[in-house]
Amino acid sequence: MKIGFIGLGVMGHGMAKNLLQNGFHVTVYDRSKDAVGSLLPFGAQLAATPRQLAEISDVVITMLPTAAAEEEVVFGEHGVLVGASPGTVLIEMSTVPPQIPRRAAESGAVCGIEVLDAPVSGGTARAENGTLTIMVGGAEETFRRCLALLHTMGDKVYHVGEIGSGASMKIVNNLMLGINMVGVAEALHLAKSLGLKPQAVFEIAQMSSGESYALKAKVPRAIQKHHSGKTKTEPGSPIDLQHKDLAIACQIGHSNGLNMDLTSFVLSIYELAQKMGAGREDISAMIELWPQLSLGNTAKA
Ligand code: NAD
Repeated sequence: MKIGFIGLGVMGHGMAKNLLQNGFHVTVYDRSKDAVGSLLPFGAQLAATPRQLAEISDVVITMLPTAAAEEEVVFGEHGVLVGASPGTVLIEMSTVPPQIPRRAAESGAVCGIEVLDAPVSGGTARAENGTLTIMVGGAEETFRRCLALLHTMGDKVYHVGEIGSGASMKIVNNLMLGINMVGVAEALHLAKSLGLKPQAVFEIAQMSSGESYALKAKVPRAIQKHHSGKTKTEPGSPIDLQHKDLAIACQIGHSNGLNMDLTSFVLSIYELAQKMGAGREDISAMIELWPQLSLGNTAKA
């Protein structure tokens, strides 16, 4: 099975490297020359455009940062749908609005190209060692055919339902993470004002009903950063990407006529962090930034 992999950033690099190390033939494309260059030592082949990559691949995987990048790579003049032949499967693993894989599936169906949406949860380490959680939408038969490949990238692989439902599930998941993260940040500052030590709050809350992924994964990271005196967090889940996912959730919720007041409020807090120049920081930076993230500070940002 020949794989084409597009988007070799924080996540895609480790995912493509893992596929190469598991014996897959992988051709890569990224608009950044440094990103593609870093995979050559692992045996990756290069393609000049997404179209050229699709021409020589049985399965094309995308792992791109935004809806705009996904649309350019899939639907563009030199895009995947132009190069792919009947029988090719496109697996969109980027976190994008569900309309994008639905549209790709509609366009692909005209020329025999099958599409799955399969966004992931998990950071760089899980990308590299193939232990991501993967949520998949699309035809059951296509899902089954790609299952071995998906299991190389993730140890928890779920078929959620029809095309777009993997993307929908991912947005719902990230809405919870985004809100939990700021909840943890506010709680830790309240704890500090009450004379509680962050380490003690972390240890007790993770064994109590305050437990969450944001607490377990992000608080140790924030404490470690504080003690190391570093000014930047290590690459992780950037505030920019979390903001993007909350914005998608709000947009879909509003167009479905739902009350999205809490998500909209939290979105504006992430926006403030971006205005303060923290967009590329891991979301654990919300803890340190919290005292400055009052919406009353908007004018100063
Ligand atoms: P990233 O910004 O680190 O990497 C994206 C890569 O895509 C870069 O190498 C960039 O050069 C390339 N790229 C951007 N636009 C392009 C274009 N038009 N054509 C070709 N290449 C292009 O992003 P990431 O952190 O790897 O995230 C990728 C996706 O995975 C996002 O949708 C994100 O929401 C999702 N995700 C990220 C994490 C995480 O922890 N970082 C976890 C789960 C899911």
